Amino acid sequence: MPKVGNWQLGREMAYPYEARFPERQFAFVFNINRCIACQSCTMACKSTWTFSKGQEHMWWANVETKPYGGYPQSWDVKILRQLQEADPDGQIWQGADLDQRFGPYGEFKGKTIFEAAETHFDPESSRVLGYLPTDEEWNSPNIYEDNPLGKPGVRDRLDPKGVELPVHDTWFFYLARICNHCSYPGCLAACPRKAIYKRPEDGIVLIDQQECRGYRKCVEACPYKKSLYRGNTRVSEKCIACYPRVEGTDPESGGVPMVTRCMAACIGQIRLQGLARLAEDGTWAEDRQNPLYYLVHVAKVALPLYPQLGTQPNGYYIPPRWVPHAYLEQMFGPGVGQAVERYKHPDRELLCVLQLFRRDNRIIFRYEIEEGPLIYEGEYRGRPVTLYNDTVIAFGKDGSELFRTTVEEPLYVRSNAHANSI
Ligand code: SF4
Ligand code: SF4
Ligand code: SF4
Repeated sequence: MPKVGNWQLGREMAYPYEARFPERQFAFVFNINRCIACQSCTMACKSTWTFSKGQEHMWWANVETKPYGGYPQSWDVKILRQLQEADPDGQIWQGADLDQRFGPYGEFKGKTIFEAAETHFDPESSRVLGYLPTDEEWNSPNIYEDNPLGKPGVRDRLDPKGVELPVHDTWFFYLARICNHCSYPGCLAACPRKAIYKRPEDGIVLIDQQECRGYRKCVEACPYKKSLYRGNTRVSEKCIACYPRVEGTDPESGGVPMVTRCMAACIGQIRLQGLARLAEDGTWAEDRQNPLYYLVHVAKVALPLYPQLGTQPNGYYIPPRWVPHAYLEQMFGPGVGQAVERYKHPDRELLCVLQLFRRDNRIIFRYEIEEGPLIYEGEYRGRPVTLYNDTVIAFGKDGSELFRTTVEEPLYVRSNAHANSI
């Protein structure tokens, strides 16, 4: 297999095709700390793209309760176990140096799904380590929702011990997921028909419905299980990143690039989606005032989901504050400690950028900050804190202002005439 550079792993890795990168890459940051599992995102996608016959069990967007939930059930546990079997005790990271542009989380010493397939998989012709979930595993997209089952070795019993910040003995969190429109997609690598392609303009990964013959190699190979088979048409389907909206060709968009349906519907304001500018080697080109660049490469509070799988996913997450770091590091890599620390004690700029999440249906390409007055001085989580009511201004693709908002959010007091009404 050819060698390609994977900046998230800090090294080259084997991939069935030569590296090719789009000019801009569809990418997103989800702030797990804010998700309330209302499933508005899930339903926004379903009601737009997967409401037809044959798509009843198809959820391109889903929100699962970790650690027990998953759609399909146990998708991450299963692929991690396969990798562990392929490289026993070798799945480790070394030498994290968050200041590095290539390999900020250190070097991943273990095997990716592509490398493990080379040495371990049967039949030999398979290019990607993976498995086909059973029908039963696809059946219950919301299994274990809100379940913090915590007694080791005891099934179906809640741990009666109370909780205490910052790390709960009993914990769960909501993981919102869509296709990661990976830079090295497992689905694309595995397709014998070459029916899956990555668009050069925005890196969105699509399945050509005319070319697909439903072999389900993509379903087997996507480690995130975001390629799905439709029984009545006998072809596979996946999230299309609502590409007419991203292109600005959707009738609603007025020619302006818009965020996707699942992003626009997010009640918890956990989502920020954009188009990251890429350098020739596939790393992110310096774009200091782009909010995604800031969160991933400057503040480093947003981390890729299971980077060790090797697909270089373009979905990033601000990890939850209350969850044991050992679990989070397996999910997001060695950057977790610093990311959680920075999120718990945000500086002035981070507070502003966090205000940009889910404020407008148009994609933000740049932000600026106008400094405001001091509004609070005190102590927070054992440290001195000063808060300023800065204004953050968001700009669109053509450089025009989209909106502006302040750190201090307006307070609305409901009049007594409407008490207890909505
Ligand atoms: S998440 Fe899965 S379906 Fe989406 S691009 Fe990556 S490998 Fe393909
Ligand atoms: S980006 Fe669009 S197609 Fe993809 S999960 Fe979200 S709503 Fe569905
Ligand atoms: S709409 Fe937002 S807050 Fe609600 S479940 Fe989806 S990601 Fe979470």
